[in-house]
Amino acid sequence: MAEEVRGPDTTALDEVVTFTSELIRIDTTNRGGGDCRERPAAEYVAERLAAAGIEPTLLERTPGRTNVVARIPGTDPSAEALLVHGHLDVVPADPAEWTTHPFSGEVRDGVVWGRGAVDMKNMDAMVLAVVRSWARQGIRPRRDIVLAYTADEEASAEDGSGFLADRHAALFEGCTEGISESGAFSFHPQPGTTLYPIAAGERGTAWLKLTAHGRAGHGSKVNTANAVTRLAEAVARIGSHAWPVRLTATVRAALAELAALYAIDIDVHSPHLDVDLLLGKLGPAAALVAPTVRNSSNPTMLDAGYKVNVIPGQAVAHIDGRTLPGTEEEFAATMDELTGPYVEWEFHHREVALEAPVDSPTFAKLRAAVERFDPDGHVVPFTMSGGTDAKQFSRLGITGYGFSPLRLPPELDYGALFHGVDERVPVDALHFGVRVLDHYLKSA
Ligand SMILES: [Zn+2]
Repeated sequence: MAEEVRGPDTTALDEVVTFTSELIRIDTTNRGGGDCRERPAAEYVAERLAAAGIEPTLLERTPGRTNVVARIPGTDPSAEALLVHGHLDVVPADPAEWTTHPFSGEVRDGVVWGRGAVDMKNMDAMVLAVVRSWARQGIRPRRDIVLAYTADEEASAEDGSGFLADRHAALFEGCTEGISESGAFSFHPQPGTTLYPIAAGERGTAWLKLTAHGRAGHGSKVNTANAVTRLAEAVARIGSHAWPVRLTATVRAALAELAALYAIDIDVHSPHLDVDLLLGKLGPAAALVAPTVRNSSNPTMLDAGYKVNVIPGQAVAHIDGRTLPGTEEEFAATMDELTGPYVEWEFHHREVALEAPVDSPTFAKLRAAVERFDPDGHVVPFTMSGGTDAKQFSRLGITGYGFSPLRLPPELDYGALFHGVDERVPVDALHFGVRVLDHYLKSA
């Protein structure tokens, strides 16, 4: 018990705030198309790892797009390694919309403000603070821990985790599981109830390009082969398609936990389960599972024509599709049907869906770490509606969990802060995260 009493030192609690703030001040906006420079943030992290005796390796596919990887040797050489990864880039922020400048990193009234405060310079800072406190205290984890600070997560990952998985797999040797963003933040569906959703899966990405062909001609003539009309009909069918419910093991486990918590007498394993009825009974907590009980397909871009009185011969649309594990074939067949005879479709970009077991020792330890520091909180597994770097690392056989613990006050809506305006994180939430991560990573 003695060693468990020893948590992160006070320096770690100070450092996590400083690191979060200073990383925010390093503008790593990723505008896509290669327009980003993570190198200063990567050097910031690498210097602080090196100062703690943890040797960092800096890796770039493209100059300026820097990744940092380091390995902390565990005490049990027979144990499998654990990957802890966080991205260094952030999505754009328009200062005109913000209360404080998004790259100020201002710490005011116990809150750190700025782009990346929750996605995910907070986690980058928490991990850095924890491993540096271990170095000061002479603590080594049981398992090898591989740290990866990546570039390019907010765009294609081609300069980040994709590059690392393709070209530097040896650095991740022995890693069987990974933890990263988008999980273990507190969620308050109603006063007095605190949930901690831990991600154990991600929907797949299926971005589509639709091309409609038709007969070009004058806008004043009868045209029964109008490419714009054909595209519009297909897009409308796709956008309003009612996808059938497809429950994965993770989503079913989430429904079981929530039904039990809300004392709803329902068998979530029944083949006749009415999922929408159950979601209706869960109230605001349904938001955790509602986006992942079905595939989805949202039209997002349209492109056709150049003059109002000219019917173009071709029209193009883009669809943001997301697929649950095991539904990829069904998704493609549905698209064949919905697009119809005059519209061709292809995958413009495709990423696999992930599922991590929730009955695993790892999930049990993640749960225990959160509940240790918030005994009134309820851990619930969930599936992310979108994707993270875990998709790329899954190609190395690494099972990913979304786990960047934060205990947020009820009035702070994590979902709205994510990529949102006035992104910010309370100092208390960072301290909670450091304690939970310190405990989990030691016990992992
Ligand atoms: Zn992120």
